Amino acid sequence: MLANNLSQSLATISPWQSCLQKILEKVGPHSYETWFRTTDLLLDNDGRAQIQVPNQFFADFIEEHFTTLIHETLCSAGISFKTLKFVPVQKDWKIVQPITEEITEARAKAISPAAEKRGQFHPNYTYTTFVVGESNRMAHAASLAVAEAPGKTSFNPLVIYGGTGLGKTHILQAIGQFAQTEGTADHVIYLTSEEFTNQYINYVVHKKDSTSFYKKFRTVDLLLIDDIQFFSGKVGTQKEFFRIFNRLLLENKQIVLSSDRQPEKIPDMMEHIINRFMGGLITDIQPPNLETRMAILRKKAEIDGLALPDEVVQFIANNITSNVRELEGSLIKLIASSSFTGRDITLEVAQELCGDVISRKEERISLKYLQQITADAFNLSPNQLSAHTRRRDVTLPRSVAMYLCKKWTKQSLRSIGLEFGGRDYSTVLHSFRKIETEMTENKELRRKVESLEKLIASIA
Ligand code: ADP
Ligand code: MG
Repeated sequence: MLANNLSQSLATISPWQSCLQKILEKVGPHSYETWFRTTDLLLDNDGRAQIQVPNQFFADFIEEHFTTLIHETLCSAGISFKTLKFVPVQKDWKIVQPITEEITEARAKAISPAAEKRGQFHPNYTYTTFVVGESNRMAHAASLAVAEAPGKTSFNPLVIYGGTGLGKTHILQAIGQFAQTEGTADHVIYLTSEEFTNQYINYVVHKKDSTSFYKKFRTVDLLLIDDIQFFSGKVGTQKEFFRIFNRLLLENKQIVLSSDRQPEKIPDMMEHIINRFMGGLITDIQPPNLETRMAILRKKAEIDGLALPDEVVQFIANNITSNVRELEGSLIKLIASSSFTGRDITLEVAQELCGDVISRKEERISLKYLQQITADAFNLSPNQLSAHTRRRDVTLPRSVAMYLCKKWTKQSLRSIGLEFGGRDYSTVLHSFRKIETEMTENKELRRKVESLEKLIASIA
């Protein structure tokens, strides 16, 4: 049998370690940590090679993105094989935690719909309703790996960060609900950082709930804390959190956290805490691209049993680009209106109803606004940006502003040029390309543009 052959060939693991080293050099530490660290290679006598991965999602992802790389790496390491497969195996946690009667019993309990356990979760925030796209693929895969085997993967803690309305709470709750229904964790706690803080304050200041406060975190198997940026500046809470956090990690209990920005960018946050995050996986969620936005709209419409014409899906997805919450908001508006008026949801209805959201956004991110924030970032006045001078301390900011205008508005190159002292459309295009190229070489410029874009995204 294949399994027997495979188990005899454990000796091949060591060459895999050297392959992994090469893979690390090729893909970089971030991808390596996410996709390769927990993999193994097994090879049988008939030349069948298996790359073992934590779950089916990993298998599909690695196969799609890294097959060629793995082929080449194996060949150059002199490992010959006839076939190569990616196989999900949950071996890590089976070894650590063999399925005993106790666990089965605990799982049975977890599966029973205890109201208090369900109470902390929104029933719609599950994996079934979550749409996976380029923007959240990594966060989704890592979260699923964690949900399937809390505390048994290298993603501990798992920190997911990203702008508002991009699905962080949804993912955290999906992990919790999955772990409960599948019985991979017995005691699951989901809290926002504010709830954590309040409970802590209740305990310290009012000496209330002290036993339950501690007991709660002593027995938790999976702790999900949402929006940890609100820990900022709260020294006492942070210390307490750090204590609980460390103990849980020592006991191989799973911790998942979310933040609206990169953890190291949270002001007044203990360095110890941030450093501890490095031992796990920090991954981000980006705003969804057009394809994902359309898929999300279709999914939501399907959940609501709503027939949504394709042109309506395209119209909304094309115009509402900032975050999923706003996308959903438009859909809810359409549903509400069609149920009041009995009208079908047509493109005209959508244009009429969603027009205000779209024009508000266009008003917010105007050419003037982009000129203003760019000028501020470079200590110039907006008028100076348009002035006719070739000094680099003006031409560079001007090009950045043009770059942002082209990228973030729907204005034509001509209108943008006009707004910059009547310049030609080709100047705008040239500036756009120049900034694109220069950002790849000039770190400081890249950082500046990125921080401007974050600012824009936050009001988009
Ligand atoms: P965040 O916590 O990042 O601010 P949420 O998790 O509250 O965002 O998401 C906002 C809304 O968008 C929720 O209703 C959520 O269900 C939905 N949403 C976000 N991302 C997705 C996705 N990929 N698929 C389906 N729904 C999503
Ligand atoms: Mg949230």
